Amino acid sequence: MTNLLPEMAEIWQKTLNWQPNTQQQLQFQQLYELILEGNSQFNLTRITEAEEFWEKHLWDSLRGIAPQMQFIDSLAAGASVIDIGTGAGFPGIPIAIASANSQITLLDSTRKKVTFIEKILTTLGLSNGKTLVGRVEEIGQQRQHRQNYDVATIRAVGPASVCAEYALPLLKVGGLAVIYRGNWTQEETTALHNAVDQLGGVIAVIEQFTTPLSDSIRHCLYLRKVAATPANFPRAVGVPTQKPL
Ligand code: SAM
Repeated sequence: MTNLLPEMAEIWQKTLNWQPNTQQQLQFQQLYELILEGNSQFNLTRITEAEEFWEKHLWDSLRGIAPQMQFIDSLAAGASVIDIGTGAGFPGIPIAIASANSQITLLDSTRKKVTFIEKILTTLGLSNGKTLVGRVEEIGQQRQHRQNYDVATIRAVGPASVCAEYALPLLKVGGLAVIYRGNWTQEETTALHNAVDQLGGVIAVIEQFTTPLSDSIRHCLYLRKVAATPANFPRAVGVPTQKPL
C-alpha cells in the first residue's frame, strides 16, 4: 500500500493553510485502505490510485469547507453538518476527520453504502459521525431534520438547483449549503438564482479553484439560508430531478 500522506503535508499547508496531525494522517490512510477493500465488494469509487484518491477525495472534500472553516469554528462547539448523498463518505468523512468538534450526519439512500460507512466510522474511531439512510426529499420534511443543520454539503448528487432544493430545507436560517461542482458557467448562476430565491436562500459566493496535482478546474457554490424554506420544498421523491426549479 502506498503511503502518500506524509509527502502531501506541504501541499495541505500551502493550499489550505492546514495540516493533518499524526492521528488525522493515520485516519486518512485507514480510510483509503478501507475504501480499497470495500471497493471489491461494493464498487464504491473508480478513484483508487493513491495520488488521485488524495486529490479527488481527501483534498477536494476539505477544499470545499476550508474557506468556510471560520464559519464552522465560530458556531458553538457541536456545529451540525449533514452530507447529502455521501456515497462512500465524501466529502463527509474527511470533514469529520478534520473537524472533530463538528457533528457530521452522513446521509445516503443506499443502505449497503451506509452500512459500509458505519464500519469506517467505527474503525477510524470517529465518534462525531453518524449515518442516516433515506431519500433526502423525505428527510427534508421530517421535523427532527428540517431546519436542523448549520452546514449541508453535497457533491456529485445532481444539478445545482436540485442540490439546492435538497440542502436548503435542512438548514437553520443563517446556515450554509456547500455545493461541490466541476465546471460552472455564468448561465448556470442565473438559473440557480431563480431556484435559490424560491427556497429562502441567496448565492453567497461562487469560488473557482484549481486542484493541486492535476490542475483541474473545480467550483464550490456557497448558498446562505436567509429565510425559512416554504413547506412544499423539498417536493416529493423524484420530483426535484424530474422538474428542476
Ligand atoms: N458524494 C459522494 C461523492 O462525491 O463521492 C457520492 C456521489 S454518488 C455519485 C451520489 C450518491 O447520492 C449515491 O450514493 C446515491 O445513493 C445518493 N443519492 C442520490 N439521490 C439521493 C437522494 N434523493 N437522497 C439520498 N441520497 C441520494
